[in-house]
Amino acid sequence: MLIALTAEQEQFLGELRSYLDGLEPELLDPARAEYLEDPMAIRERGRALLKRLGRDGWLGISWPVQYGGQGRSATEQWLFQEEMYLRKLPAGLLTLSSIGPTLIRAGSDAQRAEFLPRMLAGEIDVAIGYTEPDAGTDLASLRTRAVRDGGEYVVDGQKVYTTGAQVATHLWLAARTGSPDSRHRGLSVFLLPIGSEGITVRPLITQGDERTNEVFLDGVRASAEALIGAENGGWNVITTQLNFERLFCHNEARYELSLFAHWAAGEGRLAGDQPAAVDLQLALGELAADVEIARLFAMRSAAIIDSGHVPVVEASINKVWYSELRQRICAAALEQIGEAGQLGYGQPEAPAGGAIERAYRASTVLKFGAGTNEVQRNIIAQVGLGMPR
Ligand SMILES: Cc1cc2nc3c(=O)[nH]c(=O)nc-3n(C[C@H](O)[C@H](O)[C@H](O)COP(=O)(O)OP(=O)(O)OC[C@H]3O[C@@H](n4cnc5c(N)ncnc54)[C@H](O)[C@@H]3O)c2cc1C
Repeated sequence: MLIALTAEQEQFLGELRSYLDGLEPELLDPARAEYLEDPMAIRERGRALLKRLGRDGWLGISWPVQYGGQGRSATEQWLFQEEMYLRKLPAGLLTLSSIGPTLIRAGSDAQRAEFLPRMLAGEIDVAIGYTEPDAGTDLASLRTRAVRDGGEYVVDGQKVYTTGAQVATHLWLAARTGSPDSRHRGLSVFLLPIGSEGITVRPLITQGDERTNEVFLDGVRASAEALIGAENGGWNVITTQLNFERLFCHNEARYELSLFAHWAAGEGRLAGDQPAAVDLQLALGELAADVEIARLFAMRSAAIIDSGHVPVVEASINKVWYSELRQRICAAALEQIGEAGQLGYGQPEAPAGGAIERAYRASTVLKFGAGTNEVQRNIIAQVGLGMPR
């Protein structure tokens, strides 16, 4: 078995890199995410860059050509995400990598015609409204209701952790259209403008200083055209979207390793032969190997998609590994920094400008995002090893 990029993939990466190198700093710099800034401000400013990428044909890498994409492989899609991530640039992860591909499969012709071109132009940004105060892992118990009223649905309920809702243009909403006890057989998905009357967005700030939201839906009128797929057929739409989200998970671990390495080479004074420096080298070397393993897991999932199959266990292994690796990198870095590592974001004397301390606090999020790691481990044991439910 040869584990390497094909000549075509290498060429794609080379073209992408020279394209990005050639973009004006006035466009790139404001969009570049820094841990020391409000991530949502970056997201808003990043939209200008996404629009430019869309105009130049760089969005929708793996979308079919008939829907305006480049018709390339999942591996190239992942390479695009990784390159953007390393440069701390926005890549439209949820909208382009999961909502668009789900719409291609489950949407009507009219919905595809309305939304796909605008997604590819970087004009649409979607927030995902699944989780509720009493429905997280057990999503089939959600209670937000959508009741048919002529040509519309009237939606009432509450969502929580609706990340990006304050800057999104649309809400991808899961609601109950069946009876209260219909579980996953009575759910439907709607794509509606987030500015619709009756939608209120309130901030929730996480321990990593990142903002997510509560979203209240009060008599919101959604047109029947906003329904994605069949009424009560939402479970299939939700699982398709989540599969895409898990598959194209980004590789922040590589960025966090670079924060650690940068601190080690500068403030950490790696040069020298004292035992502390040896410890530091060992920690960095081990984590660098683990980051390469994360990349191989991701590439394996992408290669499975390219061969026409769905990586279920592989995608779960990928997600568990890289999400926990992020936390290990930040923890190892803080251990090496020592006491001063407690100086946080915004404090002038903080090592690495507080970036590692803040990354440590933020690094837990992907352990529950896109399905908690406990649930992923269940999938690995049940589907991968044939254990009973
Ligand atoms: C910062 C942040 C951003 C988020 N963004 C979004 C978003 O944009 N849109 C959205 O819809 N949701 C979002 N979420 C919600 C996220 O998907 C949920 O937090 C997650 O699904 C878990 O649900 P819960 O928090 O209700 O925990 P619970 O489901 O109550 O789980 C609590 C604990 O029990 C464990 N557990 C539960 N069931 C099982 C089981 N069957 N087997 C083993 N262990 C189990 C879980 O693993 C977890 O450790 C976000 C969450 C956070 C924290």
